[in-house]
Amino acid sequence: LNFSANTSNVNFTDIHYFILIVPACLILMGSLLLICHFAFRAPSYLLWLGLGYIVPSFSVAAQSFMSNKQLALSAPILGSMYLFGAWASAYAMGLRKNANARPYWCLALIIMALLSLSYYSYVDDQLWIRMLILNISIALVESLVLFSMFKHYQGIDLLNKIVDFSYLFIVLYTFVRGIIIFLFLRNIEADMLANSVWWLMMLAASIILSMWFAIVLLGTLVRDIIHQLNDERLRDPLTHLFNRRGFNEAAKRKLHQLSKQSYFLLMCDIDHFKKINDTYGHLVGDQILQQVGQIIGQNVRDHDLVGRFGGEEFIVLLQIDDPTLAYNIANRIRLGIADARLSSKSIAVTASFGLAAVHQPNLKYAIHTADQLLYQAKHSGRNQIGFEPAQSILDVSH
Ligand code: GH3
Ligand code: MG
Ligand code: MG
Repeated sequence: LNFSANTSNVNFTDIHYFILIVPACLILMGSLLLICHFAFRAPSYLLWLGLGYIVPSFSVAAQSFMSNKQLALSAPILGSMYLFGAWASAYAMGLRKNANARPYWCLALIIMALLSLSYYSYVDDQLWIRMLILNISIALVESLVLFSMFKHYQGIDLLNKIVDFSYLFIVLYTFVRGIIIFLFLRNIEADMLANSVWWLMMLAASIILSMWFAIVLLGTLVRDIIHQLNDERLRDPLTHLFNRRGFNEAAKRKLHQLSKQSYFLLMCDIDHFKKINDTYGHLVGDQILQQVGQIIGQNVRDHDLVGRFGGEEFIVLLQIDDPTLAYNIANRIRLGIADARLSSKSIAVTASFGLAAVHQPNLKYAIHTADQLLYQAKHSGRNQIGFEPAQSILDVSH
């Protein structure tokens, strides 16, 4: 704690310039968040958080070069920049978590803080009391969102938990800063702040926590973007089922992981779909595709894979041992489609199917077989299931 003795040979203004690292880092990090928001259309909480970093950093920079008198004169202005930063951060967390940051409470707190800051600048000039008021008010403004944030705290993944608890830690640290000011910086003068080891340690802790917070927050953002991109890569936007690539990847993984299970592959192609498109238009056609996708999804279990393989062609990987059961599921889907009246025009639609056992690990062969069986089903009059074990087409009518 012998900091001032060690630095006695350092020019006083050097430390003041050195302290500018803190606002410089804050501005850089805040700008990074703003860039993410504006350039990459990232969520709007990043805008507020960026402002929460940038606005107070101007106060930090300005106050490094102020005398006691100048500090007292500008205290309400610098204070309002700090308090705005606190509100922006709390509001950002509220946006991010869909939590209530209690704006009216915060406004009342900020007004009270500014009034008392003015009193302790213009009536009774007390730097340390102003610092105390400011830190406690910042901590209170930032803490109000915590109640709503942690109210129903279940099913949150690790990375988001790290962000939330980092924020909680930063708020707690801001309260601790108030205690340090009360215990160790009482009656300090402005030009002595840069010589106080407590003050410098507080600045160092602030910058480390701010950096940590920005990094973990951007980490969640990168993760979300990767999830979203993967989703776009692997899912069909119309039906939200797997697309061909997604189905192939998921099926490969499944066959690899559960190689002792037995599977059936079901191909489904809507009958005379071109006619529906030509008669009712593509929009109605799209609605029908969505609903057929839903009907298929409703008739299989969670561990079965459903994909849209092409235009009006669907594919299902059934994890099932019994051929009869597999056939029954296919038939349930067939009847589900045939019995439904689809789209806003209540159109009756049928589909044809090919059902083949999967001889692992070769899905390609199963797809080829199911395709051929589907082709046979089409040629035998549609609205039926071509099935391999039967070695012939089972014509099942209602
Ligand atoms: P079949 O009974 O022999 O299967 O007759 P079909 O008319 O269903 O067969 P075909 O493969 O000739 O026609 C498929 C049609 O599906 C052609 C295309 O216009 C339509 N289609 C493909 N993708 C989409 C899509 O995303 N939306 C809509 N609305 N139509 C699509
Ligand atoms: Mg068709
Ligand atoms: Mg087709």
